[in-house]
Amino acid sequence: MILIDGKKAAAELREELKKEVSELKTKYNKVPGLTVILIGDMAPSQIYVRNKEKSANEVGLKSEVIKYPEAVEEKTILDKIEELNNDETVSGILVQLPLPKHIDKQKVIEAIAPSKDVDGFHPMNVGNLSSGYESSVPCTPLGCYLMIKKIEPNLNGKKAVMVGRSNLNGKPMAQLLLKENCTVTITHSKTKDLKAECLEADIIVAAVGIPELVKADWVKKDAIVIDVGINKTDKGIVGDVAFEEVSKVAKALTPVPGGVGPMTIACLLKNTIECFKRSQR
Ligand code: NAP
Repeated sequence: MILIDGKKAAAELREELKKEVSELKTKYNKVPGLTVILIGDMAPSQIYVRNKEKSANEVGLKSEVIKYPEAVEEKTILDKIEELNNDETVSGILVQLPLPKHIDKQKVIEAIAPSKDVDGFHPMNVGNLSSGYESSVPCTPLGCYLMIKKIEPNLNGKKAVMVGRSNLNGKPMAQLLLKENCTVTITHSKTKDLKAECLEADIIVAAVGIPELVKADWVKKDAIVIDVGINKTDKGIVGDVAFEEVSKVAKALTPVPGGVGPMTIACLLKNTIECFKRSQR
């Protein structure tokens, strides 16, 4: 079984991106810039943002974190986004989710210029992705996609099953694999026989949020299994896939932690660079 090492894959990607940033600096005499807006003091968000900033600096991006207290008014955030949209030194804007309840998430997402939407959540980018056009792609599925392609460069005709249909994971992942000529099934909480659907799959991407939901007897021999889930349990952080048993059946499997997570941040940097390059055309 191939243990897909997300840390190693992310380090390799960061190395490639560092080279690219250096080439862009030579060519344009400036570097891509990422601005992250962080609202409130939720510990996980603080950690994510710190890691994003550290990785951005590592590859040579210009990075900035703008912090607001939990009680900040929605208008303040929308005004700041407007200002960043018009700032030429900012290539990518990310507003760290989740947001406090009094701030309308969709309004915030739609306020970010699609050309600077490094999360790929703006409806324009969602539409472009599903139409097969150039777009920013949400970072987590992009990372999963790159890891799958490393294992299996030719995905023509493969059966891929998404477990979960969120806008963040299942849906964009399905679009990426459809573009690669996979036959894609998207399952969700109302799917009648999830096990039977999974057993058909050459590729399973689990993004559900239920600890160890996908069992070994759901997985076809030699399937590629990507585990997006991050679940806190009594035995620590586990994914949506029963790792030990599935590792005996799968051809390749991502661990949790150390699989999809590290690639997500590396893909945010990749998206920032792509936004910069598009802005220079
Ligand atoms: P989400 O928005 O809560 O969506 C979960 C999806 O799973 C929904 O489509 C839901 O179906 C489906 N589902 C729930 N119970 C199910 C069941 N019994 N059988 C089949 N499908 C079921 O979650 P998300 O944001 O995509 O996140 C999923 C997991 O990934 C979480 O553990 C999260 O922490 C993790 N995550 C990890 C990363 C990373 O970088 N590694 C990034 C993002 C998220 P319905 O649509 O019918 O409700």
